[in-house]
Amino acid sequence: MNFKELDLKRMVERVLTGEELRREEARAVLNCPDENLAQLLAATLTVREASFGRRVKICVLRNAQSGICPEDCNYCSQSRISQADIPIYKLQSVAELIEGARLAVASGARRYCMVCSMRGPGAREIEHLAQACESIRAEFPRLELCLSIGLLEEQQARQLKAAGAGWINHNLNTSRRFYPEICTTHSWDDRVRAIENVRAAGLSVCSGGIIGMGETDDDVIDLALAASRLRADSVPLNFLHPIAGTPLENSRRLTPQRCLKAACLFRLLNPRSEVRAAGGRELNLGERQGELFNAVNSIFVNGYLTTGGWNFDRTRELIERAGFEVEVEAYAAG
Ligand code: SF4
Repeated sequence: MNFKELDLKRMVERVLTGEELRREEARAVLNCPDENLAQLLAATLTVREASFGRRVKICVLRNAQSGICPEDCNYCSQSRISQADIPIYKLQSVAELIEGARLAVASGARRYCMVCSMRGPGAREIEHLAQACESIRAEFPRLELCLSIGLLEEQQARQLKAAGAGWINHNLNTSRRFYPEICTTHSWDDRVRAIENVRAAGLSVCSGGIIGMGETDDDVIDLALAASRLRADSVPLNFLHPIAGTPLENSRRLTPQRCLKAACLFRLLNPRSEVRAAGGRELNLGERQGELFNAVNSIFVNGYLTTGGWNFDRTRELIERAGFEVEVEAYAAG
């Protein structure tokens, strides 16, 4: 099936009634000719608007423990095999994590995600992060609190939930088939188990991945489908930003069009989930970033873990120029 054989109107109706795209349709979406991209984006916008209107949620990341991960993910500047020139530090103090939340709120964030480079936390780290969550929750009762701390047991997730965390991020990153090409120290199935533990603990799941690492179209489809079938509440979509000193440092494969088509696919396969434009959007989409909002309803500001990015003001201007609006919330208690 090629893109021109897709009945876009009918496809959108089916997606909105909860039907999953067929694989041949998903392939046609990813292979949409560039001259038809505007039609694909318009169709995707209908699905996006059905759940999120024209709102865009702002999220901020905090690199809470940097550059000391024992894992070997090829794309990551913080892995044990990375030679990247990045800051290296242990878990930040509770006071620093609270300060990060204040900065996030001041930057328009509705969600604050504390990220630690680690295989998974031990009891001490869980205690520490739970303490940070409690304090942040007390100061900003409505700020969405997320943690990205590697492989998690259900009991650990329960402790964090009791302390006020609402979300756990654990990305699938790519398809099950392609996973051994990007990481050998843990498996895709390990990641799925961690996600199931998070779900069992009653926390919301944030799980997406990265495109541009050398995967095939079917790998991209499998990733978007896996996020959907795991009922991920949030689905971050990263566009590989190759970092000097990592095995993927020379992987510049993405075009803005490819990124936009993938974003449409993620939205069409995850119609009611938050789909978030994540790392690499500035690098890979450049002037076409505004078109992402046809598919995504959420975005990071102030950069990523070890790469810079646009700040809130610049991103707000991007959102408004594209005809969308920043989602706002009053945070303070009382
Ligand atoms: S587990 Fe996370 S922090 Fe560690 S190398 Fe992989 S992506 Fe990087």
